[in-house]
Amino acid sequence: MAKYAADNSRDLLKRLRETMADDGDGQARLDHIVELVATSMGTEVCSIYLRRDRQTLELCATEGLNKEAVHQTRMRIGEGLVGKVAKTAQPVNAADAPQTKGFRYMEETGEELYQSFLGVPVQRMGEVLGVLVVQNKETRNYSEDEVYALEVVAMVLAEMKELGAFTGDGEAMSAPHQRAHMLTGGVAQEGFSEGVVLLHDPKIVVSNLVADDPDAEKIRLNEAMDKLRMNVDDLLSATRRGAAKDQADILEAYQLMANSKGWMSRLESSIDSGLTAELAVEKEQSATRARMERVPDPYLRERLHDLDDLSNRLLRMLTGQGRNAGDVVPENAVLVATNIGPAELLEYGKRLKGVILEEGSVGSHAAIIARAWAIPMLINVSAITREALNNDPVLVDGEQGIVHLRPTDEVKTVFKGKLTMLSQAQEKYSVIRELPAETLDGTRIKMQMNAGLLVDLPSLSSSGAEGVGLFRTELQFLMRSAVPKRDELATIYGQVMDNAKGLPVTFRTLDIGSDKVASYMNPMDEPNPAMGWRAIRLGLDKQGVMKMQLQALIRGAAGRPLRIMFPFIAQFNEFRDARDLFFKVLEGEAKMGRVVPTDIEVGAMLETPSLAFAPDQFFEMCDFISIGGNDLKQFFYAADRENERVRKRYDTLNVSFLTFIEQIAARCDQFDTPVSFCGEDAGKPVEALCFAAMGLREFSMRPASIGPVKEMLRRMDLNEARDVINESRKSGEQSVRGDLVRWLKSKS
Ligand code: PEP
Ligand code: MG
Repeated sequence: MAKYAADNSRDLLKRLRETMADDGDGQARLDHIVELVATSMGTEVCSIYLRRDRQTLELCATEGLNKEAVHQTRMRIGEGLVGKVAKTAQPVNAADAPQTKGFRYMEETGEELYQSFLGVPVQRMGEVLGVLVVQNKETRNYSEDEVYALEVVAMVLAEMKELGAFTGDGEAMSAPHQRAHMLTGGVAQEGFSEGVVLLHDPKIVVSNLVADDPDAEKIRLNEAMDKLRMNVDDLLSATRRGAAKDQADILEAYQLMANSKGWMSRLESSIDSGLTAELAVEKEQSATRARMERVPDPYLRERLHDLDDLSNRLLRMLTGQGRNAGDVVPENAVLVATNIGPAELLEYGKRLKGVILEEGSVGSHAAIIARAWAIPMLINVSAITREALNNDPVLVDGEQGIVHLRPTDEVKTVFKGKLTMLSQAQEKYSVIRELPAETLDGTRIKMQMNAGLLVDLPSLSSSGAEGVGLFRTELQFLMRSAVPKRDELATIYGQVMDNAKGLPVTFRTLDIGSDKVASYMNPMDEPNPAMGWRAIRLGLDKQGVMKMQLQALIRGAAGRPLRIMFPFIAQFNEFRDARDLFFKVLEGEAKMGRVVPTDIEVGAMLETPSLAFAPDQFFEMCDFISIGGNDLKQFFYAADRENERVRKRYDTLNVSFLTFIEQIAARCDQFDTPVSFCGEDAGKPVEALCFAAMGLREFSMRPASIGPVKEMLRRMDLNEARDVINESRKSGEQSVRGDLVRWLKSKS
């Protein structure tokens, strides 16, 4: 930027800052700003259009156009040149506006007098909040410096809006992060909660917008940049030592970017025009994000994503804001994130009151953890990370998939009503807690619970579960920064049994891989990890960890009965080999003089359709089978459990799946091999009823589901339910759900 232009821009920004300090209301501030910009840039018109809602812009202040049009003139995003700026997040510089494609004449504004037009987006972090326009009567081309200067003003405007400098009448004037907002998404875990937002990746609020001394700002920027480079270098050498090639590649790309002259010179130019170092970084970041949304090439998008991440690090250094390891999780925290893996979620601990994700999926292990913790989790809540600020009050309605951000008092009252209804339902379940899950025709169903942490165990008595049907041992591995020690695991397994107070606990050996990747594992570069080297495949190929875990289980049991099962068995020999390994380890332990259990049951999880067709000898050898419905369903339908788009297409009550379950139950029955269902669907009353009607007699589910499922089963006659399912199967409908739900309604 030329020196004269830079001085001029700095002077204008200084005056803008003064308007921030004015006592006047939001409208007065905007009026003052348009006047200042028009005078400073020598234009006859300066107007500010702000976004009213997702689709509309509203003229909120003008110098030069008819004042009566303020708050009257509105246009849709994409409509006219102003709408085009908002839609594309790009400046429009038109010497002859009426002749420019997309021009639309707004009669009430009196803009027919003006020939030339320059509009720039008012955007913050890739979100367009409005459009800033200057116009002139004569036909003129606005210079690059002028475009730049207007962009800088727009940047400051965006921040002022964010800080609530323009609040006044109407939606368009409100600060985006102060108004109540309702968002919707999918339900990964039901429940209601009230709390405050905790951003997994907190936004940085830049409140220091304009600086008088560009040299001092450049020094701050250079210092932060040096720190950033050192930080990336350190990470890179640590990663190279750890030999995680992919991560090293990413960090090398970071290193190049952190040393990029182009980036640095753009930042310095913004500082020259009067921005603080942090706002200069944010300006670049905003532009990067806007580009990110438009670039179709995935490689380039990744690189822009890296640049975005790097900008975040730089902003954290310049402002001292952001999350650090060891930060305290506030009371009532509802975690808000783009997405989250199970290990990261576990780090927050059970204190969370809910989880809201912009992406995510019902079948993910993060969802399973939320389910185990009985906290509501919503997924696919678009733009939540942009809308929410740390500590914003939030209500999560995990029944309808609604998030109320910064709720109004009326919304809070309605929500409280729902909570009361919920606690009434809980009372109903506590009445039947000690009663058996026996259907009207006298069939007894065993109800067990799923667990994965020691803290889950008290739910055994509060839910009335008859044991732990699935103890997911991998959570202990995911929570740590290194492989847990054998003694440590033995102690935990022993404590789990102590806390179960004689009720059976089925320990599933390590099911790692797929989306369950511990921080200390080198992530495998597999085309499809869910069908990759995971669970028992990994355990059998690398036996060290598996042997260690089996020893820990034997030692933890200390002579008490031991039930273990192996995950993801796809064929007989995998089960036989794993079982042989267990007995070899047991023999070794006995030889060492340890007390070993004598009452031992070794089972398998049926999670791939292939196992249902295994040789008879498998069913004879296996002490019990547990259907891992989450995995089984994804392989049965060839629909990734983590891919919401395909997962939802296939109903669990689809006749094909139910018939398959019926066949598995019959095959197990033939060999007297007990079979249970421990996937998430067991915890849904209608699904559980259908599985029972298909012949299953044992379920394992999250503790909170035991009440509702038991309540349903106790009201039903399985013969009747089977008749309804059979009739429905004959009808040619793909799912029996419609017929079954109609029948259930007719009975209630
Ligand atoms: C399953 O697949 O149903 C199961 C219980 O295992 P996980 O969800 O841990 O893969
Ligand atoms: Mg599984």
